[in-house]
Amino acid sequence: MGLEADTLEACLEDYFARSEQLKTRLWLRTGDVDGQDKAAGMLLQILPDGLGNNEQDFDHLAQLTETVKNEELFTLDAEEVLYRLYHQENVKVYEPKTVTFKCSCSRERSASAIVAIDRQEVQKMLEEMGNIKLHCDYCGADYEFDSVDISALYEQNGPASDAVH
Ligand SMILES: [Zn+2]
Repeated sequence: MGLEADTLEACLEDYFARSEQLKTRLWLRTGDVDGQDKAAGMLLQILPDGLGNNEQDFDHLAQLTETVKNEELFTLDAEEVLYRLYHQENVKVYEPKTVTFKCSCSRERSASAIVAIDRQEVQKMLEEMGNIKLHCDYCGADYEFDSVDISALYEQNGPASDAVH
């Protein structure tokens, strides 16, 4: 994600427009209620429905969303906010889903990335660094392979990739 815009909202909107090709608006607010710090936000997005995007509806909904007050975002539950903003519209609320963080990285995937490299290169890296460390930039996990691990990897992957004599 680029950081070309002045606000986090604008950067994220830009990301959705460029990467996901989805028209998106974001409202992020921070403040406090009775001395307690609060942060809340709304995301408005056109989802592809195969019928083409209705820009006019989007602009209308964006105007309505513009009227949301910080206090409403901080103190009301989501359905109440939806009702206040869009009660004249046709609103459908889906069953909420719990958000969980998942990363598709694994030690196995890291291992297959290593064996895809020329074995002599891998051997050189092992000699220089003692072991090979792969870092996942997405979730922050580290996967470390020492020379024993590496030898085992190449044995599993057959003699075709065995280039060191
Ligand atoms: Zn990861």
